[in-house]
Amino acid sequence: MKKNLVRMAFCIVLSAVMVFFYQRHLAQDKPAFALAQAQKTIYLTFDDGPSDSTTPFILDVLKEERVPATFFIIGRQAKRRKNLIRRIQDEGHSIGIHSYSHIYSEIYRSPEALQEDIQKCSDVLEGILGYKPQLYRFPGGSFCIRDELKECVKALGYSYIDWNASCRDAELINASVEELVQSAISTSADRQTIVMLFHDSAHKNNTVWALKEIIRYYKDAGYAFEKL
Ligand SMILES: [Zn+2]
Repeated sequence: MKKNLVRMAFCIVLSAVMVFFYQRHLAQDKPAFALAQAQKTIYLTFDDGPSDSTTPFILDVLKEERVPATFFIIGRQAKRRKNLIRRIQDEGHSIGIHSYSHIYSEIYRSPEALQEDIQKCSDVLEGILGYKPQLYRFPGGSFCIRDELKECVKALGYSYIDWNASCRDAELINASVEELVQSAISTSADRQTIVMLFHDSAHKNNTVWALKEIIRYYKDAGYAFEKL
């Protein structure tokens, strides 16, 4: 009897370890689209924050709806908003690096410049969180990034991830809540695995309202909500 229990415990631990490493394998070094899931899954991702005028309200909605998300942080924004970074962490969301300065002409000048920028953001986040995030999102996405810069990010040990759907709150000027919701739905095209792009930079009020509707839509459509 005792032997059986030990054997069972061993199997459970072994399965947990296997699932953990399999998930890590899926997340590593792969674009968003390789995060294939058996179940319909959506990852909500927020770039360019934190900001005082948007991030707290985004967090409120996520809390009300009980769904996790991933925040790709700009280091210079985080420096002055340590409490918001701690709140993101405390409420169980994932945190990734989205550059220190977000100035394309500076960070994409060379692999050395990119490395310096990432390191600067990493230092800020480590000072607040107590660990170095291992996720990275290229400002503007990796779609048009030179191979040498992608190699640089991989060599530093980061997994970088893009998106395959967006509420388009960065491109649409003065978009209504309805336009943002419709953009999210039409760009995701009911994919099995969705990585949705939002922005929690300053004054994205309509993103906050749209988020609530977007979450409801995907809940009704049977999606599981995961963080990266
Ligand atoms: Zn950005």
